[in-house]
Amino acid sequence: MGKVAVGAAVVCAAAVCAAAALVVRHRMISSRKWARAVAILKEFEEKCGTPILKLRQVADAMDVEMHAGLASEGGSKLNMLISFVDNLPTGDEEGLYYALDLGGTNFRVLRVHLGGKDNGVIGQEFEEVSIPPHLMTGSSDALFDFIAAALAKFVGSEPEGFHPPPGRQRELGFTFSFPVRQTSIASGTLIKWTKGFNIEDAVGEDVVGELTKSLEKIGLDMRVAALVNDTIGTLAGGRFYNQDVIAAVILGTGTNAAYVERAHAIPKWHGLIPKSGDMVINMEWGNFRSSHLPLTEYDQALDAESLNPGEQIFEKLISGMYLGEIVRRALLRMAEEADFFGDTVPPKLKVPFILRTPDMSAMHHDTTSDLRVVGNKLKDILEISNTSLKMRKIVVELCDIVATRGARLAAAGILGILKKIGRDTVKVGEKQNSVIALDGGLFEHYTKFRVCLESTLKELLGDEAAETIVIEHANDGSGIGAALLAASHSQYLGVEES
Ligand code: ADP
Ligand code: MG
Repeated sequence: MGKVAVGAAVVCAAAVCAAAALVVRHRMISSRKWARAVAILKEFEEKCGTPILKLRQVADAMDVEMHAGLASEGGSKLNMLISFVDNLPTGDEEGLYYALDLGGTNFRVLRVHLGGKDNGVIGQEFEEVSIPPHLMTGSSDALFDFIAAALAKFVGSEPEGFHPPPGRQRELGFTFSFPVRQTSIASGTLIKWTKGFNIEDAVGEDVVGELTKSLEKIGLDMRVAALVNDTIGTLAGGRFYNQDVIAAVILGTGTNAAYVERAHAIPKWHGLIPKSGDMVINMEWGNFRSSHLPLTEYDQALDAESLNPGEQIFEKLISGMYLGEIVRRALLRMAEEADFFGDTVPPKLKVPFILRTPDMSAMHHDTTSDLRVVGNKLKDILEISNTSLKMRKIVVELCDIVATRGARLAAAGILGILKKIGRDTVKVGEKQNSVIALDGGLFEHYTKFRVCLESTLKELLGDEAAETIVIEHANDGSGIGAALLAASHSQYLGVEES
């Protein structure tokens, strides 16, 4: 070998060595970053932990807050609102009634034909309309006009057979799923907007008055006979079919619960409601908070940047509006601090609420061996391509942490209600069944969430008590429930019987 050749070989070898060193160095960095990403994940998991003991503390706190909210106005973060529903459906309700369901991304207009004794619901038709985003943060006039117009269109297209006899008004149950201070079964004032609605100057507004004004404006002769929310509607709808239903929980965009309380246990209303008998309480449990809730820095940042900071803390941990957003925030941290998706942070990952809970759920339920669904979601929504299987597994783990925490906390909330009404244990010689009606898109579609909620409740109750508690999916029961309550509060009731 000549000198030149030797020299070239040496240079070559040096280059190979350098390249190899680079590769090794690169691997070292990436494994260090990988370790950092895993550390972020593990820390998050730990902070989100919901051991049974903690869940019991949450349930106890819920029970305590329920007592406090019932004792005095403003006595608790839980409003514990009187619904004025003291007679739940018996199954004998009869006639044609309408319902409006407003409280999330879609609103629905329904017509329900009640058959009377033993005949149940003979027929129901509904139409779903999505609310244009600008109306969610505009003026309340514009929102109510839009709703009235949709109702007028629905009624306008119905066959003649549905027209009421001359001189008779159509009657409506209005499911309005925001916190309302009721003043009677068919009137109430708004306490605040939630779930992404941020209507200007509407707090304290007479909800039924506003809707009635819009109905008159559009020339629709319809009377609002009952003002309820989705939990009360679901409870009423559930009771129509099953007299053991004692509570309803909604897990959808937001979350809330209502239950049947003994009237004598409502000190703040003593004298105003009969002490005998029952009263449905709208808990507004989304606003529950407690030092026992496992809040992380991600939750705190989400809350601080939300439309309603400091409020609806329970809702921000467990409801559909927020679960995907929590996952996004954890992923963003991993991208920023551990270059989880490469040297640059994917710009889309910085967009609040871009990762929706249905997409999170789809990733969480991915059963393909290479987690293809996860890969596609990351690509389609966040414009992150070339993810490794290892990375996708981490994403699934994140979804699992967030969904599990939410589901277990929801179960603890339900245990709190059962404790409050003394149904969390089995009393000697007494076999009392309790049914809780659950509804909402999160509960309905997020299977792992639902299964975890149900198994956690069983775990909390223990075998014996668990046998007496049933969770029932009340599919869209709230519309029928509102129509039922309109029927039982119809202005024509006494008239027809006499
Ligand atoms: P709303 O609460 O808006 O009245 P729904 O009860 O239908 O309406 O709940 C809708 C919410 O349910 C969505 O905002 C979403 O968070 C959640 N959701 C819907 N579909 C799914 C799904 N496939 N997986 C997980 N969550 C879902
Ligand atoms: Mg709803």
